[in-house]
Amino acid sequence: MKSWKLTSSPVVTGQCLCGAVRFEMEYPAFWAWHDHSRASRLAHGAVYATYVGTWRKRFRITAGERQINRFEEKETGAVRSFCRRCGTRLIYERTRSRHMINIPRALFQSRTGRQPIYHIAIEEMQDWAHAGEPLVPLKGYPGVFCRRSKKKRRRQEARLSASIRSRCS
Ligand SMILES: [Zn+2]
Repeated sequence: MKSWKLTSSPVVTGQCLCGAVRFEMEYPAFWAWHDHSRASRLAHGAVYATYVGTWRKRFRITAGERQINRFEEKETGAVRSFCRRCGTRLIYERTRSRHMINIPRALFQSRTGRQPIYHIAIEEMQDWAHAGEPLVPLKGYPGVFCRRSKKKRRRQEARLSASIRSRCS
């Protein structure tokens, strides 16, 4: 009767910051998405949250169930669970899709089978979110990078086009 193990889905695991709460999800997830809504921004204390969504029955808490607290948002009825020892957000349950649960992508130690190609509440995206602009090392601060200033960028572009012009003439 060992054959069931061969046919069961592979799982990916995750945990909270302190390690008290651990969980597993059957691979692959259903989808993954970036959430730019105000509620998720505040709940995570981050510019946006990235979630992996899966069917409720494909997700299990494997340790620390008693460490989990739940917070219900009055306006929407959505429930956010978190580790009461370290505060890590664990599960986001939305009222519009009761069979699905959403777990922060960052809590998984390996790939979840879905890339976060979807965005929710994109109109609430903050202008201070990093959108992949080129970065340069900050002089005198190892490990710190910053966006090139517009002035410098313009100067560099002008220099570049001047050198191209001189080469072509
Ligand atoms: Zn924890």
